[in-house]
Amino acid sequence: MKKLGKYIGANIRDKVVIVRVDYNVPLKKEGAGLVIADDRRIRASLETIKELHDHNAKIILLSHVGRPNNKPEPDLSLQPMAQHLQTLLDFPVKFVAESIGEPVLKAVASLNPGEVLLLENLRFHEGEKQNDPHFAHLLASLGQIYINDAFSTAHRAHASTVGITQYLPSYAGKNLEKEVEALRKIKDEPDRPLVVVVGGAKISDKVDAIVNLSKVADVVLTGGGIANTFLKAQGLEIHQSYVQDAPADLKKKGIDYIHVAQDLLERTRTEHVWFKEYIPLPKILYPLDVIAAKSMDAPETQIIDLTHAMEDSHQDKSLMYLDIGPKTRQLYKEVLSMAKTIFWNGPMGVFEKPAFSAGTQAIAQAIASNSGTTILGGGDTMASIEGLDLEDKFSYISSAGGAALEFLAGKELPGLKPLIVQPEA
Ligand code: ADP
Ligand code: MG
Repeated sequence: MKKLGKYIGANIRDKVVIVRVDYNVPLKKEGAGLVIADDRRIRASLETIKELHDHNAKIILLSHVGRPNNKPEPDLSLQPMAQHLQTLLDFPVKFVAESIGEPVLKAVASLNPGEVLLLENLRFHEGEKQNDPHFAHLLASLGQIYINDAFSTAHRAHASTVGITQYLPSYAGKNLEKEVEALRKIKDEPDRPLVVVVGGAKISDKVDAIVNLSKVADVVLTGGGIANTFLKAQGLEIHQSYVQDAPADLKKKGIDYIHVAQDLLERTRTEHVWFKEYIPLPKILYPLDVIAAKSMDAPETQIIDLTHAMEDSHQDKSLMYLDIGPKTRQLYKEVLSMAKTIFWNGPMGVFEKPAFSAGTQAIAQAIASNSGTTILGGGDTMASIEGLDLEDKFSYISSAGGAALEFLAGKELPGLKPLIVQPEA
C-alpha cells in the first residue's frame, strides 16, 4: 500500500521549514478592522507548527485566502490570521506583506530558530494558481524542507501545493495526515454498517463522491436539494423545488443528474440492507415526506407526504420542498442509530431559515449521539451545526469540502501525489 511521506524529527531539526497551511478562514468586520469568524483551520495547523518549534526549526507559513484577482487586495490580507495565530502560540509569530522578493528574504534572514513567519496571500501573484515553476522556485528557495498541512487545497495543482515539491523534500503535515487517514478509512475499510448522509445543494460537486460512496456504503440517506434530484428520478413531482442542472458540457454528452440518480437507484435496487432485522430497506433512501412552502420566506409551511403524492391529483404546483419531514427524520434517525460509521455532507434543508432547519438539526443530533466513527464535512454542513453544541460529539470535522469529496470519489489528488512514497521493499 502507498503511504504518505511523514517527516521525523531528524528531517526538521534546526532546518528552515516551509509549511503550506490553509488559513482561508471566514472573516468578519469588527470596528475598523477584520477579525476571524471561525479559526478552526488555524487551530488545525498548531500541531505541526508546535512540533517544528520544539525541533528548533524556522517556520515559514504559506497560505491563500479568498479569490483575489492576481493582485493585492487589502481585505484579503493574511495579516489578521498572523495576529490571531499569535494569540494561540507563546512564541513569536511574524508577518511580511509579500510572498516573494526582497522583503521576504529580509524577513527570513532575521527569523530566529523556533519562530514563525507568515507570508502574504499567495494568490496576490498569478503564479500561484498557474502553478508557475518560477514562482514555485522562488517560494522553495526560502527553505530546506516542505511540509503540506493543507489537505483542503490538495485537489488543486498550485505552485504552493505541487510546483514547490519539485525543489524540496516534501512531507505530509500532521493535520493533512489525520484528515487523509479519517477519509481513507471510510473509503477503504469502514466499520460496518457505513451510512452516508448527503444533502445540500451542489450535486455537481458531490455526484462523483455519491456514486463512489454508494459502492462502499451500506445505506445512503439523501436530503436537501440533492434529494429532489432523487425524487424526480423516481418519477415524483417536485414542483418548484430546487434541482441543480448539469453544466452545459455534460448535457451535450447526454448526461444529466436525473439520469445519474436513476442509474444509481437502478444499480442498487437489489442491494438491500436488513433494517430492524426483518425489513429490507433499499440502499439509497430519499425522503418519505417533506416540509414545503411557496417560497423560502413564506409564512406558511406544510408537510407533504410523498408516499401518497402520486395518487393525489390536487397537488399544489407552486410548492418548494425545503426540508425533510417528520417521518423521514424518524426513519433516518433509526437507520443512523444502527451505523458503526457515518459520513455526513450537506444539510437536509434550507437550515439558514428556522422554518426549515429542524430536519438538519435532527440528523445532526442523531449523528452526534452515535458512538461509532462519525465524520462531517462541507462548509455549510459545518455552519449548520453552529450553536447546537455538538462539535465535540463528532469523531472528525473535515474543513476540506472539495478535496474531501474528490478523495472520497476515488480520485488521485495532485497535492497528495508528491507526498506519497512507496514503502521500502
Ligand atoms: P456543503 O457546503 O455542506 O457541502 P452545499 O453547499 O452543497 O453544502 O449546500 C448547502 C446549501 O443547500 C444551503 O445553503 C441550503 O440552504 C441549501 N439547501 C438545502 N436543502 C435545500 C432545498 N431543499 N432546497 C434548496 N436549497 C437547499
Ligand atoms: Mg457549500
